[in-house]
Amino acid sequence: MYPRNQLIKFFIICLMLSLVSACDSGAPTPADKPESDDRTFKHSIFSFGTLIEISIYGVDLQTAERAFEQLEMDFRYMHVTWHPWQRSALSRDNKLIATTEWFSDAPSVRPLIEIAKELAVKSDHLFNPAIGKLIYLWGFKNAEHETGIPPAATDIEKLVVLNPRMDDLELREIQMRSNNPAVLIDLGGFAKGYGINRSMETLKTMGINHAVINAGGDLKVIGRHGNRPWRIGIRHPRIADQVLAYVEVEGEESVFTSGDYERYFIYQDKRYHHIIDPRTGYPANGSQSVTVIHADAALADAAATALFVAGPSDWQRVAQSMGIEDVLLVDANGELHMTESMRKKIQLPGNQPSAKNSSIKSTQAD
Ligand code: ADP
Ligand code: MG
Repeated sequence: MYPRNQLIKFFIICLMLSLVSACDSGAPTPADKPESDDRTFKHSIFSFGTLIEISIYGVDLQTAERAFEQLEMDFRYMHVTWHPWQRSALSRDNKLIATTEWFSDAPSVRPLIEIAKELAVKSDHLFNPAIGKLIYLWGFKNAEHETGIPPAATDIEKLVVLNPRMDDLELREIQMRSNNPAVLIDLGGFAKGYGINRSMETLKTMGINHAVINAGGDLKVIGRHGNRPWRIGIRHPRIADQVLAYVEVEGEESVFTSGDYERYFIYQDKRYHHIIDPRTGYPANGSQSVTVIHADAALADAAATALFVAGPSDWQRVAQSMGIEDVLLVDANGELHMTESMRKKIQLPGNQPSAKNSSIKSTQAD
């Protein structure tokens, strides 16, 4: 979530923003100030290492401005609180976790730890935020990983053998301890989803019933865009300016994608990306991208990461155990796999190049 190249990310984000129908007055530009677009107000915030665009529909400018101000403060707080490496409430927890003693853990982090423990179990530990040391070892915390080289196999193996898991954390009242000093919590796999859930609740308490919060293509919607649903574009994992599929969502829905194109480096012609298979300690190699739709953005975010790791042969089992119905997975060969319910929701643009080399596998998760 802390990108190597802000410029590339910025252009990708602009693409994603242009795919949301909230922007139907033409190509949107990130705005410093809220601007009216036929009663759609938009505002961008830089947080979680990405540009977050908030679109609000069906309220007056004053309400929208109040909401933008509130969310700006909230996202700033969430970013500094849940940062795994910089000075933060989470990094303090991480230091104390390493002692394996009981300690009073940060109340601002506890709800995420509790949810992450549950999601880790449901995902059969393929979603495993306890592998922060592996993520650190791979260098995906710093800005220079495009020139990176893979870590030594022996260093990876040492961490994999120690098997850090969310189960290693014991919680009692206001205290926590880890049975395993190898645990280092990195919430990068789902903090954005959790934060978006919280922010959407804030918007609702302000009387806002129609909105999109879009964090670099991972987004949650509520309500409708006027008299029609919100129309979302899902990025092609290999063609930067290409839409893989469109989906129309309304009510309360989140669309989250994990991809191997987000943060990666190439070493000796091989792509090494930031989604790590906890069983091997290496980047998961069966998928190019996984998109999940679910009302709960934290669950959708964690599930996209877990199903990416599960890959084309195992995603259905993990989707079922996580309670996910809508999945679109692009495997390492560019083939599409999806649940029946996802197939009913998405439209594939007919003339896109991916159609030539992708066959469609449509399968039911449950
Ligand atoms: P993004 O945040 O780029 O949209 P993801 O939601 O897939 O993508 O999160 C990837 C991030 O999650 C990584 O940068 C890392 O911080 C963390 N991570 C990597 N592998 C795992 C894993 N197996 N389980 C949980 N978190 C992971
Ligand atoms: Mg995720």
